[in-house]
Amino acid sequence: MREQELNLSADVLVIGGGPAGAWAAVTAARKGARVVLADKGYLGTSGATAPSGTGVWYVKPEAAVREEAKRSRYTLGGQLADAQWMNRVLDQTYDNMGMLAKWGYPFPEDGRGRQHRRGLQGPEYMRLMRRTVKRAGVKILDHSPALELLADEYGVGGAAGVRTRSGQAWFVRAAAVVMATGGCAFLSKALGCNVLTGDGYLMAAEAGAEFSGMEFSNAYGIAPAFASVTKTAYYQYASFYYEDGTLVEGAGSKQGRAVIARNLLEGRQVYARLDLAPEEIRPLLRVGQSNFFLPFDRCGIDPFHDLFPVTLRLEGTVRGTGGIHIVDASCATKVPGLYAAGDAATRELICGGFTGGGSHNAAWAMSSGSFAGDGAAEYARRLGPRTHQR
Ligand SMILES: Cc1cc2nc3c(=O)[nH]c(=O)nc-3n(C[C@H](O)[C@H](O)[C@H](O)COP(=O)(O)OP(=O)(O)OC[C@H]3O[C@@H](n4cnc5c(N)ncnc54)[C@H](O)[C@@H]3O)c2cc1C
Repeated sequence: MREQELNLSADVLVIGGGPAGAWAAVTAARKGARVVLADKGYLGTSGATAPSGTGVWYVKPEAAVREEAKRSRYTLGGQLADAQWMNRVLDQTYDNMGMLAKWGYPFPEDGRGRQHRRGLQGPEYMRLMRRTVKRAGVKILDHSPALELLADEYGVGGAAGVRTRSGQAWFVRAAAVVMATGGCAFLSKALGCNVLTGDGYLMAAEAGAEFSGMEFSNAYGIAPAFASVTKTAYYQYASFYYEDGTLVEGAGSKQGRAVIARNLLEGRQVYARLDLAPEEIRPLLRVGQSNFFLPFDRCGIDPFHDLFPVTLRLEGTVRGTGGIHIVDASCATKVPGLYAAGDAATRELICGGFTGGGSHNAAWAMSSGSFAGDGAAEYARRLGPRTHQR
């Protein structure tokens, strides 16, 4: 029945409340747009960033440092990235990290009061983003997955979904939609990925969007076999062993994940121990990624001294670089009125064919969110009163 439905109208509808969606919503609202944000879970705890710590591609605007930052990823990514996009993302990320500092994000400081801005702790970051989104006047629909886009021959004009707590259907008619539903790591059991089932890709594809870089989207992360935390960077300090204590040759090399995969597929359990981590950095590793240690602490395992079984978890487009193809600097897609940001969008522009994990994805989420929020608000402004005649 109609009265049981929730019917809203807005200038911009943002689907997804991870960092990309939150930045898109804040940016559009600050431009004067009326914004609704719908998340499948809860803006602040849902998605890949909220339960994690993320390194951020934060590079000071000093020519030599910036050039080096771009060069290394350009080479790793098979020279497929785009220098102009790298510049834009570096600039926007630098600005956004400055805004986070202004809004009160507790960046750690060195002895001389200088802030360390190369990383963000997910819970604090997303709590702050929720507060900021609310302050900007955005209407948030938590526990409200979008199920389909509302579209006609002129493009996308909103979306429909369901409020999972009440079963009520929702419809938001909007001039523009930002798709920020994250990547797809379906059934991977990787931390924060339970909600990342690729819905945004499906909805965008149904509306006629194109995709790019999907061939670079089969990333797997290393995790303890008993836990969901995929912090592969820490395994640079690991040696890998079989049950009898003999070394797994090649597992610690650059192609190590392929070696681990082959062993696991052949039914041989692989064990790890972070025995290569120098004593002096061990406490720092704990501070940098406290959630990495939580499953070990719970099981009474000291990962620096004890062997623990590992597995590989599919992280799909959460770490791989593929996603919705964007056609211009505002993160517009091929479909009029539809914008894409964060892991929902392709990250080839800044990563080429190499994973965006470790720093680039977080930078991309906040900067593409800002670009898309700005672009969507501008699109709505241009449509003007005609918006609500559709
Ligand atoms: C364990 C782990 C560690 C990581 N560490 C790093 C790192 O150190 N550095 C780095 O750069 N990157 C890292 N990443 C990747 C990074 O977390 C992601 O790139 C980032 O979260 C992308 O932000 P997003 O907003 O696009 O997506 P997400 O943060 O995943 O948010 C997507 C949101 O969309 C919502 N959603 C999904 N479907 C729907 C729907 N149908 N309707 C409504 N809402 C929907 C979800 O509920 C979720 O809230 C890590 C990822 C993982 C899993």
